[in-house]
Amino acid sequence: MAPTPNPVKKLKDKELCKLVKDDALAESLEAFKKLVEQPTHLCLKCGRASNDKKRLCKPERLT
Ligand SMILES: [Zn+2]
Repeated sequence: MAPTPNPVKKLKDKELCKLVKDDALAESLEAFKKLVEQPTHLCLKCGRASNDKKRLCKPERLT
């Protein structure tokens, strides 16, 4: 059996905020779940949360 690839790596290296507009949310739902679980940052512009601040266009620490 082939190892399961990391779904996050399939996502382009762009902010969640932009990926959603590219319909990447529906196409890469599992990868999105990985990026938003136990979030550390909130996007002040779009209100999205992620555990990787590089995935947000205007990140603000949650804690
Ligand atoms: Zn944003």
